[in-house]
Amino acid sequence: MSSSPSDPTETEAEEKLYLDCPTHGPWLRSVYNQQQKQWYPVLPIGCPDCRREAQLRRLMDRTAIPPRFMHCTFDTFRVESHEQQAALAICRQYAADFRQLHTRGTCLVLRGNIGTGKNHLACAIARQVSEQGYSSLLLTVAEIIQRIRATWDRQTEETQAEVITRFGDVDLLILDEVGRQYGSESEKIILFQVIDARYRAMRPTIVLSNLSPAEIGDYLGAATYDRLRENGGKLVNFDWASYRGRCVAWLAFPRSSYHCTSQD
Ligand SMILES: [Zn+2]
Repeated sequence: MSSSPSDPTETEAEEKLYLDCPTHGPWLRSVYNQQQKQWYPVLPIGCPDCRREAQLRRLMDRTAIPPRFMHCTFDTFRVESHEQQAALAICRQYAADFRQLHTRGTCLVLRGNIGTGKNHLACAIARQVSEQGYSSLLLTVAEIIQRIRATWDRQTEETQAEVITRFGDVDLLILDEVGRQYGSESEKIILFQVIDARYRAMRPTIVLSNLSPAEIGDYLGAATYDRLRENGGKLVNFDWASYRGRCVAWLAFPRSSYHCTSQD
């Protein structure tokens, strides 16, 4: 039996006040409570899409690529071995295929010693992906944790869940220095939530770490590590000596006028 327009439950459901956002159209401003004969605002007040975009902008206020990596492209990556050639090829392909990988949430783990070019190639990917119109963000684990912890202060307007959702919204998130600091349980939970939010949104994450694959697994926990490996996720080993270390050795020669370029 269908209800007539005078049905009280239906009337109740219809007592809503919408306002118009010039960009996104109507948003729910207030709801009328029949029993209390009063209008109540829907909190937080405002167009939810505008709010979501403002939060994303705040998140993106950080430079997606840190200034010292601005010069990093695939063409400026120094290749002197087959392993380096292979790492470059995988990263170049990842950027080229990003449109497909992005819808599958395919992740990448770049691991190896400091100064082997992990950040260089990650930033080259971020740069190319940005040129394709996607958003990208590079943050250290410490920065992510700090960002989440800031929401624990009750004065802030964003909740932890909202910030985690925002991290899930970025098209490409690059997590730097995974395993650099001692991972407390709460840090591991936060990292899991961020990676899981991205996994559920089918968004790709690139993880950069100095640890061995087994250590990364231990640090992140099996559930998180598995998320990174699903849907064709790859692990790339940067097992050669540090460019930086070698630069230092060369510079130690008194006559050397070698110009050292950072390739972290
Ligand atoms: Zn709006």
